[in-house]
Amino acid sequence: MKELHWYYPETLADAETLVRQENVLPHGGGTGLLLRNLTGVDSLIELSRLPLRSIKVVDHNVEIGSACTYADVVEKMAEIDPGHILIKCLHHSANTPLRNRITIGGSVAMFPPWSDLMGALITLDAMISLTGKNSGDYSVLEYIRDKNLRANSLITTVKFKLLPRKSAHYREIRTKSDMPTFNHTVLLNIEKNKIVDCRIITVGTVLKYTRLAEAETYLTNRRIENIDVAEIGKLVNLKFAGSHIDDPEYANIKAGIELGRMIQQMVRS
Ligand SMILES: Cc1cc2nc3c(=O)[nH]c(=O)nc-3n(C[C@H](O)[C@H](O)[C@H](O)COP(=O)(O)OP(=O)(O)OC[C@H]3O[C@@H](n4cnc5c(N)ncnc54)[C@H](O)[C@@H]3O)c2cc1C
Repeated sequence: MKELHWYYPETLADAETLVRQENVLPHGGGTGLLLRNLTGVDSLIELSRLPLRSIKVVDHNVEIGSACTYADVVEKMAEIDPGHILIKCLHHSANTPLRNRITIGGSVAMFPPWSDLMGALITLDAMISLTGKNSGDYSVLEYIRDKNLRANSLITTVKFKLLPRKSAHYREIRTKSDMPTFNHTVLLNIEKNKIVDCRIITVGTVLKYTRLAEAETYLTNRRIENIDVAEIGKLVNLKFAGSHIDDPEYANIKAGIELGRMIQQMVRS
């Protein structure tokens, strides 16, 4: 078996030089790399000595260092905004030892179809800061869609605005420690009993994620007392596939029912 070389950079300048090399990959929590075939990889860049494990709020913008773990984010966001969507998404993700390892940077770069993070980052219009072959700020959607952005580039920070929103996250799981077969993330902006804006993202579909535009249109500018939960379920038409979904048709019906329940709970509370 080939021996991997490990780098332990302590400055971003050193990490930037290393990440530009071919066959050299960043190592965040290692929970995704663990399951991956590393045959073509010569070296790993361990990120834990870099100054990337802090969370700051600057002018209502939250900046999360990419080496922060899911557990770090849950703990710090509870101080910043106790009802924040990221806490709801991440506090029950995977299990405790994994939440202490999985990093924000590794999770954005990998974006598995069971990601509890990415639905929230998409609904929040998050921005990603990169260094390496690509440097600068990009929207999370640009990063997902453009594989050139992901090449030889290190995610340093994930940023988003702090906005007063009602939020909810639902994970479809069979046992408590399962990866979700799909998950919904919902943000609602409610003013005077009327939904003025909403974002609904489902992660785990054939396209990896789907924005539920029809349900969003139904809810936008609708007064709370006029919401028909059964109607929301009918507007969900998601395509599921893959080995982790037993019955895509059942998953779609379940996704519709659960979305209706989420909205009902959110507008009642
Ligand atoms: C048993 C198990 C259950 C899980 N369940 C869930 C779950 O329910 N929900 C959930 O959301 N996640 C879950 N995960 C985590 C998920 O599957 C990924 O393993 C995780 O998101 C990867 O993060 P990491 O920090 O460990 O990345 P790593 O394994 O370190 O890296 C993953 C990829 O990202 C690259 N990378 C790492 N850091 C950076 C960076 N800063 N910039 C650019 N590229 C980078 C690496 O080179 C690699 O290609 C689970 C993992 C396991 C093993």
